[in-house]
Parts: sequence; structure tokens; C-alpha cells
Amino acid sequence: MRAAYHKPYARLLAERGFANLRVRKVPLHGGFTCPNLDGTKARGGCTYCDNRSFSPVAGSRTVPVSRQLAEGSAFMRDHIGADRFIAYFQAFSGTYAPIERLETLYREALAAPSVVGISIGTRPDCVTPATIDLLEELSRGAFVTLELGLQSAFDETLRRINRAHTFDEFAATMDLCAGRGFDLCVHLILGLPGEGPEHYRATALALERWRYQSIKIHPLHVVRGTRLEAEYASGKYVPLTRDEYVSGLADVLERIPATVGVQRFTADAPLNLLVAPAWCRDKNGVLNALNLEFQGRGSRQGSRTRDGAR
Ligand code: SF4
Repeated sequence: MRAAYHKPYARLLAERGFANLRVRKVPLHGGFTCPNLDGTKARGGCTYCDNRSFSPVAGSRTVPVSRQLAEGSAFMRDHIGADRFIAYFQAFSGTYAPIERLETLYREALAAPSVVGISIGTRPDCVTPATIDLLEELSRGAFVTLELGLQSAFDETLRRINRAHTFDEFAATMDLCAGRGFDLCVHLILGLPGEGPEHYRATALALERWRYQSIKIHPLHVVRGTRLEAEYASGKYVPLTRDEYVSGLADVLERIPATVGVQRFTADAPLNLLVAPAWCRDKNGVLNALNLEFQGRGSRQGSRTRDGAR
């Protein structure tokens, strides 16, 4: 059996009562946009953003959620034998709409056959107290996860990538969500411009003040047509090597509580959109290198949290 030095998300799902079920996420487009694109916070979006690359349903804006779910779950049932589904509002900012619209969309998703929960990806500045009340209510009857993009705890970095939110805004939302009955997932990116291992470690430690259930981490990758591509082409941005990424990933996971499920440890883009680095498409290669890194260090997820492995 392959050694696992981190807590895979599947184990967290098993703890949630889905032990003998094949639960898979069905990515959805809820028709949202983003305040960093429509001019409310900024224009142009994050320098690396191209929703076509990280959201396979980016073109489904006008298709009803129930139909997206029916088609997505049928595909997964046929191709990978999945039998339960999490409706995943992945495209753009999944809480960026009036509360009435959010309630209609989330309830429509939860009413679909074999759907056991919803997962909502969003920005920390797009979560209102009313949204939190709604998620708390929904979580009484379903598995609900709110996924908040932080990327880095450094405001200087967030400015550089045009995130148009600060660490304090993330902190305020985490404070509001704490103990409200639904799961929290934090999203980080390694290899952001101007950052190195000391930034990754500090970002991981900055999360210690909250209880959250899962994490997604991936290397910054350059996608065709983005502002980051221009920085890459001019030599201003140099992507991480796989060794640098794996070392940074181990640094972060050592500082993440052992109870936190790792939903993602790498990410890529479709071949026709990915500019660099090519290695990020090799998920097994990253996983094997990570396990070897932990083995070499004699460490594992949670071994360097401030109060030891939790
Ligand atoms: S917050 Fe997300 S959707 Fe909005 S610009 Fe940034 S990456 Fe794109």
C-alpha cells in the first residue's frame, strides 16, 4: 500500500458518514460572476484567472443547475461508478448573488437525486451574514462546505496578483463562519510572484487560529490569455520547479493540523490552455514526490503545528 503522509479528503468524507459510498463532486455553474471582474472591487480579475481553465463548466452559465447535475452525475456514474454526489458551485464566486437567488440555487441542487451535499467556492469578501445563516440552515440536513480562497496571507502578494481583498477580510469571514455547523475549506496557492518558502510557512501558521475541515493547495500555473502569461513571457514570472513546489507543499502540510482533509495538492489546466509548468499535470508524480519528501524529512502533516501534531 502506498504511504500517505497527509490526510486524504476521502478519509474526511468517511468520517462524515459516507464510508462505503463513492462520493464525487459535480462541478456546476450557478450563473455567477465575480466582483473582481465586474468592477465592483476591481476589473481584470486575479492575474492568473481564466475560469475556462479551473472550471470545466465555465460555459454552462445558462443551463439550469438541475440539468447540469443530472448530466454530470450520469457521466460520473457511468465512467467512474460514483453513487452519491456533491453539487459543486465552482465557477467564479459561488456566493455572489442576492440571498434569495442563492437559496433557490442551493436548494435546487440539494433536491437533485443522489445529491448528499453542496460545496461552494467563493471569495472571502463575498460572504454576508445572511449567506452564513442560510448555509447553517442547509447544513442541518445536508453536507455543506464553504470554500474560501485566501491564496496567501500576505497583503503585498494579494496586491501583486490583483486579488482585491486583504488577509483581514479573509480573517473576518473565517471569524463569522466559525462554529456555524458547515465545513470550511481554505484554498492556497504556492509560487505566487515574490513569494518563497518563508511566505508559505507563515501563511500556513496564520491559519492556526481557526478550525477548518479541509484545504486545497496547488502551484501557480500560467494559463493562456492571462496577465500572468505576459509576465511569464517577459521573464518577470518564473514558475516553481516540481522540487521547489513539493518542498513548499511539505512545509505547509507540516503546519496544517493532521485532522484537516487535503482536497487538492496540485492542479492544472487543459492542455490547450496550460503554458507552464508542464509537470503540474502529473498528479501521481507530485504525490509520490511528496511522500518521498516526507519520508526524507521524517515528518508528516501536522508534525510542525505550534502545539504538535493535532
Ligand atoms: S476571485 Fe476567482 S473568479 Fe474572481 S478574478 Fe479571482 S480567480 Fe477569477
